[in-house]
Amino acid sequence: MVGTHPHARFVTDEVLHRLFAPLQTLPKVGIKTAETLHRLDIFTPRDLLFHLPTGVQIHRVITTPTFVSPGESIILPCTVIKHPTGFSRLSRRIPAKVLVESPLGLLQLVFFQGFPSYIKSQFPLHQTVVIAGTPERVREVWQITHPTVMPSQYLQKKNLIEAIYPLTQGLRATVLRNLIQHVLGFFPWDNVRDSEWLNPDMCAKHNWPLFGEALWSAHHPVTLEDCSSSSPARKRLAFDEALMYQYYLQNIRATGKTHSGYAFVTHRQNHIRLLEAMPFALTSCQETAITEIHNDMAKPYPMRRLLHGDVGSGKTAVAAATIMQALSHGKNACLLSPTEILTKQHIRTFQNWFFPLGIRVHGVTGKTSHVDRSRILATLVDSPGSHIVIGTHALLHDDAWRASMGVVVIDEQHRFGVRQRMQLLAQTPSPDVLMMSATPIPRTMLLTVYGDLKTSALKTKPQGRKDVETRVMSCDRIHTIIEKLGALLRYGEKIFWVCPLVEESEHMAVIDVHTRYAILATHFGEEAVSLLHGRMKPEDKDSIFLRFSRGESKILVATSVIEVGVDVPDANVLIIENAERYGLAQLHQLRGRVGRGNAQAVCILLYGETVSATSMRRLTLLRTCFDGFALAEEDLKLRQGGDVIGTQQSGSIRFRILNPEEHLALMIEARALLANETPPQNQRDLWQKPHRDNQGIPGV
Ligand code: ADP
Ligand code: MG
Repeated sequence: MVGTHPHARFVTDEVLHRLFAPLQTLPKVGIKTAETLHRLDIFTPRDLLFHLPTGVQIHRVITTPTFVSPGESIILPCTVIKHPTGFSRLSRRIPAKVLVESPLGLLQLVFFQGFPSYIKSQFPLHQTVVIAGTPERVREVWQITHPTVMPSQYLQKKNLIEAIYPLTQGLRATVLRNLIQHVLGFFPWDNVRDSEWLNPDMCAKHNWPLFGEALWSAHHPVTLEDCSSSSPARKRLAFDEALMYQYYLQNIRATGKTHSGYAFVTHRQNHIRLLEAMPFALTSCQETAITEIHNDMAKPYPMRRLLHGDVGSGKTAVAAATIMQALSHGKNACLLSPTEILTKQHIRTFQNWFFPLGIRVHGVTGKTSHVDRSRILATLVDSPGSHIVIGTHALLHDDAWRASMGVVVIDEQHRFGVRQRMQLLAQTPSPDVLMMSATPIPRTMLLTVYGDLKTSALKTKPQGRKDVETRVMSCDRIHTIIEKLGALLRYGEKIFWVCPLVEESEHMAVIDVHTRYAILATHFGEEAVSLLHGRMKPEDKDSIFLRFSRGESKILVATSVIEVGVDVPDANVLIIENAERYGLAQLHQLRGRVGRGNAQAVCILLYGETVSATSMRRLTLLRTCFDGFALAEEDLKLRQGGDVIGTQQSGSIRFRILNPEEHLALMIEARALLANETPPQNQRDLWQKPHRDNQGIPGV
């Protein structure tokens, strides 16, 4: 009931309207800035609102002579004494220096690559300018490189505290900060007392701020703790997100009960024909999972089942057996896969298995031309029961496609938004849906995050697979390792080298993927090494990956976020740099990239200088434990104990603020609350309106 809830006086329809306008409606945002923001998963002003700081920077305001330590961040007034002679004629390659008088005494401002005329206009002679920067002592003289000009009213404060936001290349901190402040300005802050829509007792019990207050303080942290996921403001916002997520989950589950579905009674003969086309016999786990799925499919209502298991546990074969049953009953089937690389891989596998059975496998991605799409669609409708379509979410846009599908398998299900799935599920009859997760999901998470969704697990791997030999070493040993790689390469080995994609806002002493690539390329030659990270264009990723799998390049330097499912059976060496930054489950998942063939694979976990005792324990556990389910449980325990690892969530779902591993209790509470209450419409919209077709809210 929009408008009747007091909350609607803060999250008004007008605010919502502005929050979901294109980014270009914001001041000084053009197509280029918008595209840069997309890299941070920001597609609308709303997304800026939920882009929260990871730290604080404190600048001390200095107006009288005082002690300053080099490297301290300060704000101070300064009076320009001198522009260096010949200033305007200086080449831009020589640093330009401006001499000023300040509370620190004489101070030199240094500019590399500045436009002299611009510098001059910013620092006019004999004028006083307020600047922020970090002073250094250079040969007895104080010097500040690239100071920022600040408004003079800052001199009235003792400190200036600025939020540090995650950035991306090409985006300046001040630009992002200003945009976020602008978007916060959409809300009628006079009505902030009306921003609450939760029961007051509930907020009091947890000591939570009101929604509006939480939003404000999340963007105005004073200490580092304010930026942690356990701060009251963050928890409050995380709770809202948990609630919205649970709300949608409830709707999805409802479609499994209220919508009619197909009864695909198991066609044994076709099932056996498919098994005969596979180059292996099923493991008993695979058989059990398939039986569970076939039982669901035989019933007249739609299947909603989750299949989870480690990378390499053989989910693809289960997917194929699922699809076979819909085909046997004259319906088509589709397999949604999150990336182009995985799509191509699945197409190859399915062609091998289904071609002998006279079934056609089509690939449809965002790049497929309109003409091709129409042609494929025509054949789907013409001869139903003999087509499998494999592709990315681009597939789901069209009603006619969806209607021809008897079953939909969603690989790496967490990459697809709930909104998309709602579209898929809400039609009648509703297709059977099998969701697949490439990480084992701990029991407690299953219950709270996935609700009463039925699940099947692949707990053991296909036989003949050896455990990956896992070693733990200090980063100090990296030179020795690089030397040894030379020998391995001569034996024709392929090597994965994983390191972080360090963004500008991170100050940690880690080597990023670009630097490591440069080092290895210098050592082994550019031909032998390639670089892959999530920020690349899909086409580039594809071709780089292809080069590696064909053996044209021998070392693939990559970030951890890329393509978990990729299959390069003859890659047997994996090196993970700064392994202490990842969670157990994530390391285990990365480790699953090697040892997919029959040779003995090796994984080397390198830890940096700052490794804690707990991280060390975690790394050593990996040496002896190879059970993804056990590791996932252990990982969850560690996270709940507040032992926050790195910045990445190990788990299966991407949220904006909520971290399901740490905020599990909030998820449980949200589920309980939902039994009696429905969140008001404008609150739901605020969190869940999709900003792009393939985004939507993350989740099951
Ligand atoms: P997942 O999708 O779970 O990561 P895949 O389905 O890609 O795993 O399977 C990993 C590898 O194991 C593939 O090369 C596949 O051909 C092989 N495989 C799957 N099932 C079996 C089995 N029952 N016996 C032997 N090999 C299998
Ligand atoms: Mg897979």
